[in-house]
Amino acid sequence: MELYSGHINKLIDELSNLPGIGSKTAQRLAFHIINMPAEKVKRLADTLVDAKENIKYCSCCQTLTDKEICPICSNPRRNKSQIMVVETPRDLAAYEKTGKYDGVYHVLHGAISPMLGIGPNEIRLKELMVRLQSDVEEVIIATNSSLEGETTAMYISKMIKPTGIKVTRIASGVPVGGDLEYIDEVTLLRALEGRTEL
Ligand code: ZN
Repeated sequence: MELYSGHINKLIDELSNLPGIGSKTAQRLAFHIINMPAEKVKRLADTLVDAKENIKYCSCCQTLTDKEICPICSNPRRNKSQIMVVETPRDLAAYEKTGKYDGVYHVLHGAISPMLGIGPNEIRLKELMVRLQSDVEEVIIATNSSLEGETTAMYISKMIKPTGIKVTRIASGVPVGGDLEYIDEVTLLRALEGRTEL
């Protein structure tokens, strides 16, 4: 027996496809949306479509931006010879919040995971290799300390070694399996300062 009408089921279905949204939360959100004033629902829908249409990957560091080149890459005061490799734009934001890192970033949009079938070609590694052809002195690998993050760090290190560019890994003061974005700024800075050469 169908509990709700087709339209409501469709809305619940779409919402429950989002990460971290189980069926209960999806139902709660669906009913909340239906009870919202029409113009608010329209604004939400327009914002979603607008974001999707206007946000792109920075052609240099691959983070999400609404410009061709993101504000960090286009800032002349940032040190372009130091590239910190992170898994997600949220990790980038976590390091930016410390205000103490003046190099640039490279966002992989994921990590290598043989278990999930995510190989080196599924993350933005090719783009990183292209960037290494310019004057780069150090690549700081700041992937998470999860199995996937460590696998990715090893892979990148092996890939870069032949180029002679210095490769470092942030210190493992970061809790194992901890997502970078949940770690406080002091811990992040300590991890960055205590990085070791690979
Ligand atoms: Zn950028």
